[in-house]
Amino acid sequence: MTATEVGGVAVVSDEPTRAPFDAPGGKAVFWQQIRTLTLADGTTAFGCVHCDYTSANRNSIRPHLHRHNGKRRGAARTVKTAASSLSLADLIEKAEQIDALAADRDAWKARAREAEKKLRMLRNALGGAA
Ligand SMILES: [Zn+2]
Repeated sequence: MTATEVGGVAVVSDEPTRAPFDAPGGKAVFWQQIRTLTLADGTTAFGCVHCDYTSANRNSIRPHLHRHNGKRRGAARTVKTAASSLSLADLIEKAEQIDALAADRDAWKARAREAEKKLRMLRNALGGAA
């Protein structure tokens, strides 16, 4: 639930935040999840639509919204353009894939070392026999 007060000052209006850019055709873009909160003392704050998180800085709401992405995994998955758009679950999944690759690489490295050792022994044995 969006905050109903900020620092003890009541929120008198809660509206979607107008983006600093327009859609093609000059149509205004509104961020529904980033709320513009007008307070009883006439100041403005920005808030999260999902919880009572607020900030004086509009730009700090967007990174905060990722906290709520767990419930909207499908939506988060459609915008995999940058690491910042990945949900925490996605990042953990990626980290696990990297771990698995590293483990695989280490296993192959060990096999290569073993093969090298056997080759050396064989070479020594043949060299000694010649
Ligand atoms: Zn929130």
